[in-house]
This record gives sequence, C-alpha cells and structure tokens, in this order.
Amino acid sequence: MSDDRYIYDLSDGDASMKSLLGGKGAGVAEMNKVGVPVPDAFTVTTTACVETMNNGGQWPEGLADQIAAGLARLEERTGRRLGASEKPLLVSVRSGAVFSMPGMMDTILNLGISDDSVMALAEEFGNERFAWDCYRRFIQMYGEVVESIPAHAFEDALTALKHDRGVENDTDLSAEDLKQLVATFKEIANEALGGEWTSDPHEQLNRAVNAVFKSWQNPRAEVYRRANNIPASLGTAVNIMQMVFGNRGETSATGVCFTRNPSTGERALYGEFLVNAQGEDVVAGIRTPRPLAEMEEVLPEAYRQLVDTMHKMEQHYKDMQDMEFTVEDGKLYLLQTRNGKRTAAAALKVASDLVDEGVITKEEALLRIEPAQLDQLLHPAIDPNHGKTAVATGLPASPGAAVGEVVFDADTAAERGERGEAVVLVRFETTPDDIHGVIVAQGILTAHGGMTSHAAVVARGMGKPCVAGAAGIKIDPVGKTLTIGEHVFNEGDVVTLDGSTGKVYGEALDLIPPQINDDFTRLVEWADGVRRLGVRANADNFEDASKARELGAEGIGLCRTEHMFMAQDRLPAVRKMILAENPEQRSAALAEILPMQQTDFEGIFTAMKGLPVTVRLLDPPLHEFLPNLVEQSLLVQKLELQGAEGPELNDARQTLAQVKKLHELNPMLGTRGVRLAMLYPEIPDMQARAIVRAALAVLDREGETVGVEIMIPLVALSQELETQRAIVKAAVEDELAKTGKTLDYTIGTMIELPRAALVADQIAEHADFFSFGTNDMTQTAIGISRDDAENGFLTSYVMDHVLERNPFESIDVDGVGQLVAMGVEKGRSVKPELKCGVCGEHGGDPDSIEFFNSVGLNYVSCSPFRVPIARFAAARAVL
Ligand code: ADP
Ligand code: MG
Ligand code: MG
Repeated sequence: MSDDRYIYDLSDGDASMKSLLGGKGAGVAEMNKVGVPVPDAFTVTTTACVETMNNGGQWPEGLADQIAAGLARLEERTGRRLGASEKPLLVSVRSGAVFSMPGMMDTILNLGISDDSVMALAEEFGNERFAWDCYRRFIQMYGEVVESIPAHAFEDALTALKHDRGVENDTDLSAEDLKQLVATFKEIANEALGGEWTSDPHEQLNRAVNAVFKSWQNPRAEVYRRANNIPASLGTAVNIMQMVFGNRGETSATGVCFTRNPSTGERALYGEFLVNAQGEDVVAGIRTPRPLAEMEEVLPEAYRQLVDTMHKMEQHYKDMQDMEFTVEDGKLYLLQTRNGKRTAAAALKVASDLVDEGVITKEEALLRIEPAQLDQLLHPAIDPNHGKTAVATGLPASPGAAVGEVVFDADTAAERGERGEAVVLVRFETTPDDIHGVIVAQGILTAHGGMTSHAAVVARGMGKPCVAGAAGIKIDPVGKTLTIGEHVFNEGDVVTLDGSTGKVYGEALDLIPPQINDDFTRLVEWADGVRRLGVRANADNFEDASKARELGAEGIGLCRTEHMFMAQDRLPAVRKMILAENPEQRSAALAEILPMQQTDFEGIFTAMKGLPVTVRLLDPPLHEFLPNLVEQSLLVQKLELQGAEGPELNDARQTLAQVKKLHELNPMLGTRGVRLAMLYPEIPDMQARAIVRAALAVLDREGETVGVEIMIPLVALSQELETQRAIVKAAVEDELAKTGKTLDYTIGTMIELPRAALVADQIAEHADFFSFGTNDMTQTAIGISRDDAENGFLTSYVMDHVLERNPFESIDVDGVGQLVAMGVEKGRSVKPELKCGVCGEHGGDPDSIEFFNSVGLNYVSCSPFRVPIARFAAARAVL
C-alpha cells in the first residue's frame, strides 16, 4: 500500500493548508480550530484529484482505503454510521478548489439516506416529512451530478406534484407527498439508468467523490479558470462533511452572508436566508430568500451568534468574509468562509476602511487590491441592474461600456463621431486604416481577431471598450447590415457593448460613470510609497500624454512616431519622401515633414515637461504608408481600361512601381526599424532635429522641458546602433550648435530581437539605455506572428492548456523572460547603471510587472489607462 496521505480529518487542518485542502477545507478546519461551530468532516486532498486526473481517471493506490478509514473515524466521532438503520450518518460531498470558484463545481448533499435509514432519521428527529425531504433532495442531486440524469426530469415531477396538491412551495408538501415523490424519483432514476441505480451509500460515496473530481474539468469550471487565470493543474479537494439540517422545520434555516457589502464595500451585514431549507435553495434561487436582517426576529439567538461569528471571522482573516451557515433546530453551524469577491470599488473601500479600523497595515491593504480589477473603475460601466439579455458574445477585449448607433466604416464613424454623435464601429476586423474611426467611436465590435488583435490593442490603449472576435455575428459592410441570429441591425440602430464581459446588447443600456474616488486616490498613493519600479506610459500625442500624467505616469516610455506620418494632410509629403529617387529629393520631402513632427513633439513635451520622454524613431516598413499592392494594381488597370492618360496614370504607375519595389513577403521581419534608418539616414537625421527643436521650443515657452531620450528600434547588431548613434548625435549637436543652447539627452535602443538580448553587452557599449520591446520579442523568440496566431493555433493552445496564458498578454517568463533577464544582466555587465525599461503590452500586465520587478528593470511603460494598475502591481511586486 502506498504511504501517500490523501485524507485529513477536520482537526488536522488549518488555514495555511489551502493548496492541499482547498479553500473550503482549510476554511472549515480553521473555523473549527478557533472554536466556531462547524459540522465534523474530513477532506480528500487536491493531490488525490490531480493524481486521478493524470492517471486517466484511476484513483491512486490507497485512496479508496483511506476514504473508508476516514469515514470510519468520522462515524466513530459522531456515533453514527453511514446508511445505518439506527442513528444514520448523512454527509455532504463538497468540491473545494484552492482559489474559490463559486458554484462552478459540484456538491452532493444528504448522502447516506436510503431505504434503510430514512425511517431511522424520521424517528430520531420525530419528523417524517423532513426525512423524506432529505431523501428526495438526495436522489435528485446525486442523480444529476453523479449519474448525469437531466435535472428537468426531477423538476418536472416536483412541479407536477405541487400542481396536483395545489401548493406553491415545496415546504407546503406533506410527508406523504414527499414519500410519494421519492418513489417517483427512484423510478425516474432507474428508468434513466436502465435499472442500474446504485443504492449502497458506501458505493455512492466513492462515486460522489469521483464526480466531484471530474467536476473540476466541466466546461463552466474551465471557462471560469481561464477568465481568472487559475491553472488547470491544481485540481479540487473534496470535503466529506456531516450534514446539519436547515430543513428540520421552522426553527431551522440556511443562508449566505457577507461581513460587508460586496458591491460598495460599505460596512453593513449583507446576506439572505431561508427558513426550513437546505443550502442549495438559497444559491439556486428555488425560493426567494429573505434579507438577513429579518432573521433577528425569526431566530434571534442564532442571529446573535451569527453576527458575533461574522465579526470574529473578519477580524481573524482581516478581510471581508463571505460565509455560508445553517441553523438546525436553533443551533448555528458555519459551513464555509472565504474572502468575499467584490467589485473594484468595494475592494478599495474595504481595504481603506480596514486600515482605519486598525485591522490591517497599508501594505496589507495594497495586497487586497487585484490590480487588473481597477480597470473597472476607469471606464463608464453598464448599470449592473439592467436585466437584459445579450444578443451576441465575443472576447472581452477592452473593458468598459459603449452605447451607440452602429456604423460599418471608419469614415462614417469619423464623420458622425466628430459631429458628437455616439457611434459603435462594427468591422469584420480593424486595421491601422480605421484609426480615425476608432478614435471617435464609443466602442468597437469585430467579428474577427482576438485579445491582442490590432483592434483590441488600440482600443485598450485608448481605454475604448471593444468586443472582438464575436464569431456569431455577420457583417455586410456593403449592404450595411449586422446580423446576429434573427436580429438585423441597420446603420443607425443602437447597440450596447460590454467590453468587460464581451457581451453585445441590441438596445441602449444605462451607464454609470467611472468611479474614481477618494479610496482609489488614497490607496494608489500608498502604492507609490512602496514600489521600486517606475511607471511610465506609452503615448503618441498631447491628449494621451496629458491623460497619462493625470493618471500618475512618471514619463513616457514609448512615443511612437509613425502616427505622425499617417495623418491625411501629411501623406503627400510622406509619399514624396518614399518615392524619392535620391537622397536630395528625400531630404527635400523630409524638410516638409520636419515642422509637422516638431509640432507633434511640442504637444507631447508640453504635457510631460519635467519628465523623461522616450521617442522611438520611425519603426514600420515604408509600404505601410503606401496603397496596398492589389488595390494599386487594380487602380492602374482601371485607368488603363478607361483610356486615361497623362499625369493621373503616370502617377498611379509610378506609385505601383514603388509599391512593388517595397513589397516584402515578411514585412515584420523586413526593412523596418533601424534597418530603414541604415538605408535612409536622412530619416533619423530629420527626426532627431525635430525632437531637439521641439524640446528647445518648449523650454523657451514653458521655462522647462523634458528629458529627451532618443530610441533606435529593432537593433540586432551592435554595428547598427554604433552607426545610428553617430547620425543622431551629429544631428542633435548640429541643432544645438546652431542655437547655442544645451539640452540633456540620451540615445538608447530597444531590445526586441533575441539576438539583441544575446549580445546585449556589445550593444550596451553604444546605448545610454535599453527598453525591452517584449511584443516583438515574443513574436520573434517564440516565432508566433501576433497578427495571425490568435485566429489559429494560439487560441486552441490556451484552450487545451498547451499554454496557460497567451504570451502576448502575459510574458512567457520561462522563455522570453529569460531573454529579458539576460539582456539586463549583459547590458549592466558593461554599464552597471544602465537604465532598463519595458514598453509594450506586458508593461501593463500585473503578472508580467511582478517579473519585471524581479529582474531589476527601472520602469515599466504601458498605455495611459493602465498606469494606475501598473502602480498597484509594482507595489505588490515588492510586498
Ligand atoms: P458551492 O461551492 O457551490 O457553494 P458547497 O459545497 O458550499 O458548494 O455546498 C452548497 C450548499 O450546500 C452550501 O450553501 C451549504 O450551505 C450546503 N451544504 C454543504 N454541506 C453541508 C452540510 N454538511 N450540511 C448542511 N448543508 C450543507
Ligand atoms: Mg459554498
Ligand atoms: Mg517593436
């Protein structure tokens, strides 16, 4: 026999054993330890579940014997025996994961009731009705959970009986009725199982344990885990607990309570209860429960005890508790306690209040805030009491709520949006071409693309609600219709998007404003006092930079310059630059662009004066500024067919020739970033000059300017950086010499290719700072195109747990993370004080931030709306 231990009796456990006993098991053990009344129990460990899963559903050796022994001990302690015809023991078989997943898994109550024990129970408590009530409940629950008999089979029979007796509630059924119901239920079960219904309680117990193990893998649980990033490998514990009976009559009850209000965080008891009922009745909404306060009248003694216990447990766990209780004939039992789930607003208020109450320290308060949850606070939210049904569901790509009239193209969105009308942009997928529509739309809905799709990234960056990849919707951009099932929406019809849940509603729902409040301000200041990592923002214009500063950014970690080339009024000059046949022509075109760039920089520098700003020189391949190859070929063909002549056709042909010349099969691995600057040194020269002129202009005007950090992207070879550094430096010095002014500036590089990390020591020779571009680095280190992968294998990888997280959302610590760590270490082996940061999506992800803190980065940079989240996450990383 194996000597692995799979069973812990109630008195063997405590709160520290959560990973082995699950949250529920550890919670009841802890309550028992501190003298709170809980029913006697024993727990099958999560290890037993994991080993069973890994072993194709086979229990590990010794588990069956250990359960039998655990049961024997429980029988000994309670003086009862499972299924006995005298003093029968009834138990519940309860799931219990390490991280609570309320209602996602299965639980079976009243196991041990049988033809042998039902009358014994009736006689012992002098209540025949109650005994038959337990029996019918058991057959239904066991039948559903263990034998997969459809719930409606039982419910229909119950409804029919109530109808027959002319009663509304099951509490109004008599003992005789319930006895008859048990007979009916048995028939239903036997019929469903072809006569294979198991009636031996010991066998039922083993099968119930197994069913709870299996419920770890049911689809609900899967979905919940994925949404909450709970690893699928943890497994569930199983708690086998003596039943206490809330259904023994008018002096018995069951309920759920919170020590504070989980929506608002207010300090007031909050909960619901039912007289003469079992736990499931409250949760499953079988009868409408009553507010907890009313329990004071009905069961005063139990109520007083409950309030005492709630207070005691909150003090004990130093956090808001969510508890389940049962009163049996006036005596209170606690069945569960856990840290209550709460809204972001409630989380802040509870943490802040607990500090004021002297229960926790400021540091502990910070650990109570789930940084990712704060997103909820920064966007208008849907009024939670809307009671409406969604018409479609996609990926919750960017949180917040959007109400608006549907439009099907970016131009219409831009036109109507600029007039101040609320529109929702509905596209098959969005591309950079749609940006003008995206900026003014209330929200974005796409049929295609995932959480890191362009639409999602852009939307999050702007704090714009987005539901992406809503596979069930059909978009006809020509006929301008959106079809969802039988609903057809025309342009101008109103929809509401909930970017926090991915739900789409076919009407306008009420919104509530963002709830940035005093608690938020107070806690984020505490976070700032604790964290070591700096927090910067990614921003490309004045508005974003101002927003970022308002939300606490300490600088800009990534200012992309490509948007400055994309604006409609600049494209002619940009095209001229691209079509230039020699450096002189190119310089002439660039001279036209320079003042426009300078203006943009001045805006950003004004918003950020006094703080550092990292400006990344032009990164995308040039073809992005030109028409697409197919479209341009068609245009030339069309003009030729129309017999057009002269400048129009010539122009189209010339553009087509250039598009062909620049065409690359793998543009993301092609002529972009530093490679572009190596081919066309006029570009970095112009950009460096625009930056310096802007910085000096702001200095003149505002008496203060920014710390200028010029960043070269996509460097793989130290020679590239050496060359570019010289070009940029020469341009900067020339500008300064011309004005006779001085400016603090540094020149650094992005580390975003694996080779750059590998030779970071060589690169550091020419860099004043590093900024890790972990988006491109993920793409190139794992070899996944971030624009395509989600539409294919990456989604199934995450579904099938080949990967636990999407590596574009949360950094792949084992792989890409190693490159970052190596880059930092090698860089600092040459320059010990080398400033290292990270820009890109990972900079706003709490788990990634924890990792970045651990490898000694100086700062993270993220989109403006994630700055508060990053401030909290950076504080948590050091606590
Ligand atoms: P969940 O995790 O879905 O809440 P639980 O294991 O907590 O499942 O059980 C569901 C309900 O059954 C609870 O509300 C609880 O009140 C009730 N229950 C569980 N075990 C017992 C027991 N031993 N005696 C009485 N009621 C119980
Ligand atoms: Mg529960
Ligand atoms: Mg990059």
